[in-house]
Amino acid sequence: KIGEFADEFGVNAYIVGGFVRDLILGRKNFDVDIVIEGDATEFAKKVAKKANAKVHTFERFKTATVVFPDGFRIDFASARTEVYKAPGALPEVDMAPLKKDLMRRDFTINTLAIKLNKKEFGKLIDFFGGLRDIKDRKIRILHSLSFVEDPTRILRALRFATRYRFELGKHTEKLLKIAVQRKLFKTVEGQRIYHELKQIFLEDNPLRVVNKLAYYKVLSSIFPTIVWDKKKKDLFERIRKVIIWHKLNFQEKEIRYDLLYFGALLIGQSFQKIDTYLDNLSVPEKDREILKEILLKASYLLKEVNKERKNSEIYKLVSRFKEEVLLFAASLTEEEWKREKILEYLKSWRFTKPAVTGDNLKAIGLKPGPIFREILNELKYRLIDKEIPEDKEKQLDFVK
Ligand code: ATP
Repeated sequence: KIGEFADEFGVNAYIVGGFVRDLILGRKNFDVDIVIEGDATEFAKKVAKKANAKVHTFERFKTATVVFPDGFRIDFASARTEVYKAPGALPEVDMAPLKKDLMRRDFTINTLAIKLNKKEFGKLIDFFGGLRDIKDRKIRILHSLSFVEDPTRILRALRFATRYRFELGKHTEKLLKIAVQRKLFKTVEGQRIYHELKQIFLEDNPLRVVNKLAYYKVLSSIFPTIVWDKKKKDLFERIRKVIIWHKLNFQEKEIRYDLLYFGALLIGQSFQKIDTYLDNLSVPEKDREILKEILLKASYLLKEVNKERKNSEIYKLVSRFKEEVLLFAASLTEEEWKREKILEYLKSWRFTKPAVTGDNLKAIGLKPGPIFREILNELKYRLIDKEIPEDKEKQLDFVK
């Protein structure tokens, strides 16, 4: 459809980047990025009107997002047609706007485009050898100054290399090492580094990416005092298992899984050091709060969960904490039974309800009041401790 609209409005439209890369690799990707040779905001507005969709435009960047009635989103960007030239500069070699747009990208594997116009619909456009590199399983930058121009690409290179099990191209690897040696991260805004770290922590297996960050001395370049040792690797592995468990049980929940890994990286550092790192990375206040809770409260919680306590006492204890803190504590402990108690709280205790209701209590002649809450809570605790049966009549007998 987009191709038809493009023909109608007289512009060229291409689907580009990650979507094409993942299409060739046979991986799912729902981020559709479209480049328009022309004004993408105008184009997006027209598409939205025709399709009864919502559109958000960012005039400054000439980009737009269209959200269709079924929730599907497409991002549109304009391939710049005019270039800001210094007065008197030599005229630029004529180049297709699409090619100029793709030239600014990070790796060859992200420079593939597919034409959407009816004429040549589906044609794969490959200016920089991206298809060959996907086949060779190689991450390659487009030009020698790429990492100097934007050192966050170092993090991206290692993230993609891990995710797809690709290797760095020889030249790319050499330039990456030089860029790290020259401490180029110091020249980047902290929040951009943090954004890429977050993407790493949201990967399926951050442990493997961080192994690479450590190998290429990227980790020590960003966090000089953090030691990537067996203890941290084991913790990363346990976090991964806990997250998989959590995702299986609660698909819909919005939990900041990335911060569990970030917490694991930071744990053991002094609070002063942690604050310095978080300041340098411009970590947003909301993230800082969750991180602080994770780091301050998880070990305290684990100390309090001990064998003398009944399940209901553990319930009262852990229900005070954020879910992220509980997941972190469950990962932090090496004692299987403690982990199980915390996960049991998450999976069943917190949803436990007595069969008896307020109405039932009225029916046996009790006067409504604060006592009802107390009775129902007591029943809940006894249920968690398996001291009373699930049967309603028997629970009422117990109340009597
Ligand atoms: P993912 O599957 O992780 O979403 P993606 O390729 O879609 O991967 P994004 O971070 O969403 O990655 O970026 C979209 C596109 O923008 C990429 O295909 C990439 O070419 C380009 N891009 C992103 N960051 C940079 C950068 N620092 N330098 C150059 N190009 C970049």
